[in-house]
Amino acid sequence: MAHAGSLTDRRPTRQIHVGDVAVGGGAQVSVQSMTTTKTADVEGTLAQIYALAAAGADIVRCTCNEAAAAEGLARIIPRSPVPIVADIHFHHEMALAALEAGVQGLRLNPGNLRKADEIKQVAAEAKDRGVPIRIGVNAGSLHPDLYARYGGATPEALVESARMELAYFAEVDFDDVKISVKASSVPLMIDAYRLASETFDYPLHLGVTEAGPPPAGLLKGTAGIATLLAEGIGDTIRYSLTADPVEEARAGRQLLEALGLRERKGLDLIACPSCGRAEIDVIAVAKAAQEALEHRNLPIQVAVMGCVVNGPGEAREADLGIAAGRKRGHLFIKGKIVRVVPEDQMVEALVAEAERLVEEGVEARLAAADDQAEAEAAADRADLLDAKGSDVNASEVAVELIRKRLDDAGA
Ligand code: SF4
Repeated sequence: MAHAGSLTDRRPTRQIHVGDVAVGGGAQVSVQSMTTTKTADVEGTLAQIYALAAAGADIVRCTCNEAAAAEGLARIIPRSPVPIVADIHFHHEMALAALEAGVQGLRLNPGNLRKADEIKQVAAEAKDRGVPIRIGVNAGSLHPDLYARYGGATPEALVESARMELAYFAEVDFDDVKISVKASSVPLMIDAYRLASETFDYPLHLGVTEAGPPPAGLLKGTAGIATLLAEGIGDTIRYSLTADPVEEARAGRQLLEALGLRERKGLDLIACPSCGRAEIDVIAVAKAAQEALEHRNLPIQVAVMGCVVNGPGEAREADLGIAAGRKRGHLFIKGKIVRVVPEDQMVEALVAEAERLVEEGVEARLAAADDQAEAEAAADRADLLDAKGSDVNASEVAVELIRKRLDDAGA
């Protein structure tokens, strides 16, 4: 992680706690997702919560839309591996019931929970129980008065909605708050969060709402969330995908790891895009390696490279990799060739080495390298360069020829 650098500088915010997960105030950025089961279905919801936690979710939200859901929460919470936030729309009594169930956080939508006395009652009860509330503003369900006053769901209107809710909370002396100002439009969402970050010092929960199915939904979510995170804005994130929520949790985690904001927990498989030089079907081998390694949860970076000429060098930062050439695979650790295996054993050899590497460490595995491997690999590379020529050498030869021609022509 050579270049995490300034990305890890977060804009200062207050800190709140959702159960045992700190949000804001220098805490690591957390990942959230939401269950799609009926909350009343306790076993089904718990199974999904466990799957989300395993995929990287630090906090999980469940809807609390009816009495049976609140009762479900009361049974789910003691058995959940992560803190649970209840999602509340329209009915303040569902918020009160969720508090009774023992939730570690509430999400209120100020667009559809509008009565001041009800909002204050919920905030007062949350305060008594030490439970934080997310003010979850959504461009699609903005308070109609604000919509009219601002001529639409503008960044100013979204931030004003949060500010009005905060004013109600202040009346009961409640400030255990985080804020979201989501929109399905990425530019609107980015502008709204930038304004929210200038306006408030509460932690911000980032998301592009209703982003849709992957891959477009993933791209939209990433465009919005990553842009803001790179500016130091955002304390907790959620991808909203029309997909199995496990994909949301995984994407959230992977984004934070890619930005250097969280330590790598699982496998990071990198692969070259392949080109005319490739000696194998890189896409198929990368897919086979991903499938074989994914569930093993090894916290290493593994590279699959299409040719031995450029592969080991280009992927020298990877912990482990394999490159193909002359019907063989060159297995390398930190760019050093440790073994040469037949092409049809590439994936198998990669998986076996990955497990040993995690168990024994880089030094031990480098020490256990096959003596002949470097020499065999060098011979393969030389053969391939003879057969196909090196791009770099070829271009230098061409440059010389161009110069000579221009000289001859007296240019
Ligand atoms: S590693 Fe080899 S096959 Fe893959 S993109 Fe680079 S040159 Fe092409």
